[in-house]
Amino acid sequence: LIAMGQAEHSVVTTCAYCGVGCSFRAEMKGEQLVRMVPNKDGHANHGHSCVKGRFATGYATHPDRILKPMVRAKISDPWREVSWEEAINHAASEFRRIQAKYGRDSIGGITSSRCTNEETYLVQKLVRAGFGNNNVDTCARVCHSPTGYGLKNTLGESAGTQNFDSVMKADVILVIGANPTDAHPVFASQMKRRLRQGNGHDRARLIIADPRRIELVRTPHVEADFHLKLRPGTNVALLNSLAHVVVSEGLVAEEFVRERCEPEAFARWRAFVAQQRNSPEAMEAVTGVPAADVRAAARLYATGGNAAIYYGLGVTEHAQGSTAVMAIANLAMATGNIGREGVGVNPLRGQNNVQGSCDMGSFPHEFTAYRHVSDDAVRASFEQAWGVHLQSEPGLRIPNMFESALDGEFKALYIEGEDIAQSDPNTQHVTAALTSMECIVVQDLFLNETAKFAHVFLPGSSFLEKDGTFTNAERRVSRVRKVMAPRNSDGKRGYADWEITQLLSNAIGYPMHYTHASEIMDEIARLTPTFTGISFARIDELGSIQWPCNAEHPQGTPTMHVNEFVRGKGRFLLTEYVPTTEKVNAKYPLILTTGRILSQYNVGAQTRRTDNVVWHDEDRLEIHPQDAEDRGIHDGDWVGIESRAGETVLRATLSERMQPGVVYTTFHFPGSGANVITTENSDWATNCPEYKVTAVEVTRVSQP
Ligand code: SF4
Repeated sequence: LIAMGQAEHSVVTTCAYCGVGCSFRAEMKGEQLVRMVPNKDGHANHGHSCVKGRFATGYATHPDRILKPMVRAKISDPWREVSWEEAINHAASEFRRIQAKYGRDSIGGITSSRCTNEETYLVQKLVRAGFGNNNVDTCARVCHSPTGYGLKNTLGESAGTQNFDSVMKADVILVIGANPTDAHPVFASQMKRRLRQGNGHDRARLIIADPRRIELVRTPHVEADFHLKLRPGTNVALLNSLAHVVVSEGLVAEEFVRERCEPEAFARWRAFVAQQRNSPEAMEAVTGVPAADVRAAARLYATGGNAAIYYGLGVTEHAQGSTAVMAIANLAMATGNIGREGVGVNPLRGQNNVQGSCDMGSFPHEFTAYRHVSDDAVRASFEQAWGVHLQSEPGLRIPNMFESALDGEFKALYIEGEDIAQSDPNTQHVTAALTSMECIVVQDLFLNETAKFAHVFLPGSSFLEKDGTFTNAERRVSRVRKVMAPRNSDGKRGYADWEITQLLSNAIGYPMHYTHASEIMDEIARLTPTFTGISFARIDELGSIQWPCNAEHPQGTPTMHVNEFVRGKGRFLLTEYVPTTEKVNAKYPLILTTGRILSQYNVGAQTRRTDNVVWHDEDRLEIHPQDAEDRGIHDGDWVGIESRAGETVLRATLSERMQPGVVYTTFHFPGSGANVITTENSDWATNCPEYKVTAVEVTRVSQP
């Protein structure tokens, strides 16, 4: 699918997969992509890449791409190819009809971290200014929304504190709930480079907290000092017990805390974690981690020099996801590990533009830069710029949209680049909600699972076909550059996704007049204090820019919270451990947890349509050999997996990486996917699904 031969020219752009945000030179022959070459000058990757960014671009020209707009009256009808004009007018008239019949709040939009910043910004603008409500959400809802909540409320900014290069100055690295080798491979390599440097006292030390023995626990020339193999769902208990050791053994960075943090909040927190019930000994029965290991790991983290925390969805996708993020921030503040190179709190963002999609105001309660819709001054600035009256009440989150649809109130959705029928938990619940709506408009590259419930299909464009920006996990805004014309032509012309949103907005009666994606970024910069110094020209000049970039930080900001926290004083918050309601019992005695594999990506819509599929052509269930033996299961057997939400069938892989009582699968393939069995439990603060804890039983079955 990549054309072989001599390249005639190359264009620098950014990988469309994970939150590392690697820079590539797309080598072109005319309009054909010859190869993707990692860019030596790339600030996030320094010339490195993984098998996804380098080889998995064939989906862009895959024959499954839908290139013509389509409509149908009912989801049981066949699709009918139509012109762009007809498809857009049909979608717009349906949205208007439904709002006239059911009310202003009966429709909404969902955007995706696959999209550029400019596209995401435009979707939330369409919803707020065109639809007249705040019913906009993003797929970050189901991954890092607790990061936004937890870091905003403790440190003052919903973002990671460091750049990736900072890890080279770390003396202690704590990885919790993340598997960088598979999910953030280029950063994992950089982390391993640091861990391989030096020996004896010079060597950086590594603490892994994960239910599974991930590759970083032991890999050539790298061995973790501690693997805290906790039970799924007990992150908060473990983090509180680490904090207990810091407080009770006199390891608090007293001067840092005195100068930088709110004293009353710290005093409350210190008294809370000091309680005996938060000690490693008391929590051992909950977490399953030996108390002596927790004590030793806590001492290492607090006294081993620069200590940096890296975390992923194993922290956020829990009923206490936001609590765990706050507990991480507490730990870093208490030990003074914030505000300089080599330390910090670093969420490893899953998708290429999770950070950006959150920054761009695509949550129902926030405008760009995480400013609440109830803030009169902020709302007034957008009202003036957009020429409309805006709502001050937050809109519906994705799970609220589903509930409202099942109640007969929410009736129509515009979905750009997100396959909610496969990616969201409890598939049966999601599909029931989608089926109950009167108009679903899907804008995507492929007829995904969600498109089965759609009435209008608007063919989107791949990252190779448009201009824009992505923001990676280190707040780095990088250019996406068009290397070929949009393929989604109706015979007259094709469109970038932001242009499609603009067409729809114009058709519903809220005019937009952008002629290039750079004009959207200029508007973002005018309205967003952390982006005032960012423009396409400035990114071209500097290569990439880490926000905040403004008069105070004209070159961008590699390290945040240097002299003071963004919110002023850092705020310790109490993080009481509350066990999940998802309990194992005699009927469902095992805990299922989920994750990714190196060669595939999320729901697989892209990677399944590339040669990467040869490395991983099905999702499998990893199960400990003892649990398998107890059930008469052999390696490669088909097994049924039943939870309170549903059942599915996968093949089993026996693996010592699992701890007894815990099973694991990826979620890259539709149909038998993990989300048939995951539940609707979610984070108390943000509704991020509790993907990481599902009580199940596994039985041997015949081949389906
Ligand atoms: Fe793309 Fe992430 Fe791989 Fe880099 S590490 S090439 S951003 S998938």
